[in-house]
Order: sequence, then structure tokens, then C-alpha cells
Amino acid sequence: MDTVIRNGTLITPAGVFSADVGIAGERIAAIVTVGARSPRPHGTVELDATGCYVIPGGIDPHVHLQMPVGDYTSSDDFTSGTIAAALGGTTTVIDFVEPEPGEPLLEALAKRRAKADDRVAVDYGLHMTIPAWHADHPETLHALPEVMAAGASSFKLYLAYAGLRLDDAQLYRAMKAIADVGGLPIMHCENGPVCEILRAQAVARGNITPIYHALTRPPRQEAEAVSHAIDFAALVRSPLYVVHVSCEESMLRIRAARARAGARLPRPYGETCPQYLLLDKTALDAPGGERLICAPPLRTEKDNKALWDGLAFEDLDVLATDHCPFTVAEKIGHANFTTIPGGLPSIEARLSLAHHFGRQHGMTLNRWVEVCCANPARIFGLRRKGQIAPGFDADLVIFDPKRWVTIQAGRGGVSPPTLHEQVDWSPYEGLRVQGWPRDVFSRGRVIVRDGEFVGQVGWGHFIRRERG
Ligand code: MN
Repeated sequence: MDTVIRNGTLITPAGVFSADVGIAGERIAAIVTVGARSPRPHGTVELDATGCYVIPGGIDPHVHLQMPVGDYTSSDDFTSGTIAAALGGTTTVIDFVEPEPGEPLLEALAKRRAKADDRVAVDYGLHMTIPAWHADHPETLHALPEVMAAGASSFKLYLAYAGLRLDDAQLYRAMKAIADVGGLPIMHCENGPVCEILRAQAVARGNITPIYHALTRPPRQEAEAVSHAIDFAALVRSPLYVVHVSCEESMLRIRAARARAGARLPRPYGETCPQYLLLDKTALDAPGGERLICAPPLRTEKDNKALWDGLAFEDLDVLATDHCPFTVAEKIGHANFTTIPGGLPSIEARLSLAHHFGRQHGMTLNRWVEVCCANPARIFGLRRKGQIAPGFDADLVIFDPKRWVTIQAGRGGVSPPTLHEQVDWSPYEGLRVQGWPRDVFSRGRVIVRDGEFVGQVGWGHFIRRERG
């Protein structure tokens, strides 16, 4: 073996047990339970993980790095964002291709890869967005087999935002075409036209403060869009993945559809994010509230609780981040809430937040690994990731469950930051969490040692994903 991780507590969806993990080259080669009869492996390098968990590298299937949003670009680029991910124990991220009107999907994919390929510190994949312009052009849908072959096997469809939002005809054709090639539609579910009316009315009445961002995107408009997506998926017998479920009402729609699923009716997947578990809309009315603008918006403590239950007890499948950071300067000083760039950072603290707060909400360690690592790998066709088993990529995290960390964004000043995201604030600033990654492996190579990044920019590969 090149490397052996000794005496760690392995956490997998199936169990918790003490074992040695042997790595040969880029792959996991052996797992030997401590106390088993088989001989323990020996390695050129041996790391002691006594007292620590050994888990599969985190998979964050929803990130927006250097993403253009109107006049802004999300502040983490492919380098800073993937280094922050690595330090937080995430060894694969999936970002997005957003084609311009008139731009062929494959060209847009090549352009996005050209920005990322030499600049990522961990492995990455790309989802293909099908915006409204493209959904109307037959050559777009004819290109889907080639897009699948190029490794983008999931397709982002929006029900909100002018330019992106698909009307019913576009949605039906796009979902049918995606289903025909065996792809997975991943959907932003908010009723765009309803939000636009409510936003215009609020501004006309002088209701311009950040809380109106939440009040003009009520839970029912999201839930309605979730039901819309579920019914369209059922019409074309397509699988469905609903991104960033923010409220109980949306989750209930997903739960009901899952109860009806069967051999001919795929079971929809649901994702939520740390902000919908840990923050609520009262923060929008507090000082700094403009920073917390994201869509769907923050909801209520009751929704937080319902989503924790959904994650812990299997009404939802994945905890992703929707990481899309903007600086304080970009967030403040707007005439009203409608022009504030939407998005929050959390690519780095995801695993630790879920570990610390998940336990308080009844989530087992196995389930923690399932929603942060195993499920996203399985759902998104990352065939060699998300599990600790021979033949899988040696993407591994030695996680110290005892270590306390106070979350502190980088700000080039007073106290050393605990986060390395390229943004000067965190929604979780000042929170103390127990449990933080100590060492991180990406394809057999140590990229984080004792909490320091020791990897290399450009080490990450673009991963061609298969059908989920
Ligand atoms: Mn997003």
C-alpha cells in the first residue's frame, strides 16, 4: 500500500466500525476491520486516525464558482472555491454551465471547462443549464446525447427568472428530451411570474427592505412550482431532482410524490442547504439583513425543523450548499431589495455544520455521510466516489469530531479566519461547532494536512458523470 490510515472509525451509510484503510495509487485498495483475522495492511506512509472518523470525501453537487449574475460575479473563483471546499472536507463539487442565447450547449461546456480545468484543487463536474432560448431550439435538444457523452448528465431547468424560466411547452419538451437520453433534470422551483408581480407591488408600495424579499416569495409559490415539476416529470416518466427545498410545504409535496412512486413513476429527489436548516427570515430584518438575500428566501424556524426531520428521516436526499458568495460591499447600498445579488457562502463549513447541528436534530452519523457524500455521488453518476470500498477513488476525510471551531470568515485582519472562502463574511460567523476535518485525501493524495491546504491548483479533474 502507498498509504494506510490506521485505527479510524469508518462511517458509511451501512455502519460505524474501526478499520484500517489501505490506499494504492489513486484508489482504495483494502479495508481491514480492527480485530479481524486478516493481516493488517502496511503502507509506505501510515497515518494514525485514532479518535477520528474516516468518511468518504464530501460531494457538494450545487455550487456556483465565478458565476456571472447580472452585474456581479460570485466572489469565489474555481481556485479559491475548491481550496475552501477541500479544507472543509469536500473533494468533489458540481458547478453549472449557463449557455448564452444562441450559444450551442457543447461550446458553452467547453468554455466553462476552459475556465476551470487548470484551476481546480479538487475534482469537479458540471450540470448543463437549459435556458428558455435553448428550450425553443430543436438543435439544443438534439445535442443532448453529445452533452451526456461529454459527461454532463444532469440538466438544470428554471421555473423562475426571466431568460432562464421555461414555460409549459418548453418545460415539457425539455423534460421529455432529457428523459429520452437518460439524463436527470434538476429544477429550481419557484413560480417566477408570481414572484415578479409581488415584487413589483411591494416596490410600488415602498416596501423595499430585505424582509420583502422573503414576503414576495411566499412558501406556496415555491410549493406550487415543486408540484408543477413533479407533475411534468410524471407526464414524461422522468426522474427529478428538486434543488434547494426551503420550506416544509415544498417538502410535503415531494414526500407525497415519493409515496406514489413505483416501477413506472420515478421517485423525485430533494435537496436542501445549510441556510434553510440554520437561518430564518427574521435575520432579514436585523442589521446586515441584506447579506442574507438568496432564492428561495429564508423561511421560519418551523421550516428549519421540518427540513432537519426531512434530511434525517429520508424525505430529502442531499445536503448541498448552493454556494454563491458576494462580498459585503456588493450586498449593501442598494435602493431596494430587488437589485441585491442573491446567494450565500457555505462551501467550506457544510460537513461540520451538518455534523454539529445534525446530531442535535436526531441525524445519525451514517445519515450525515449519506446526505453529504454517498447520495450525491449515486444520484449524480459519480461512479467511483462517495463510498469507502475497494476500487473507489481514495477521496477520504479524517474528521476530528472533538475539535471545536469558531466560524470566522477571512477578512485579512484581527483574528485568523477559520474559513478560506474568498468572501468577507459568513452567515455562520461566530457559531461554534464541534467537529472539523483534519486531513483530506483526493485520489490518494493528501491535500489537507492538519487543517492546512497542501494540495495543488490544477490537481482536480473534470469528472465525466454517467447516468445516475
Ligand atoms: Mn443555485
